[in-house]
Amino acid sequence: MKKLTSLIALVALITLTSFISLSSAEGKPNETKSIESTSVACTHGQCTAIAASTGKTCKHCVSNEGDLYCWQHK
Ligand SMILES: [Zn+2]
Repeated sequence: MKKLTSLIALVALITLTSFISLSSAEGKPNETKSIESTSVACTHGQCTAIAASTGKTCKHCVSNEGDLYCWQHK
């Protein structure tokens, strides 16, 4: 009988431990990786024009979906 009691206690302990670890894991804020990169994160895409000042691709975002150029390069 003593063996059974200790067995129940052991099972209860394991269940409790796993429950605590589970709930603490759920409590953590989700580390969702941001889609935003260090470069440009545009809703409709980035301007494909070459900026005259820098000679590199324009960093502006296009204002409408399907547009290739920003308002400056239209
Ligand atoms: Zn542009």
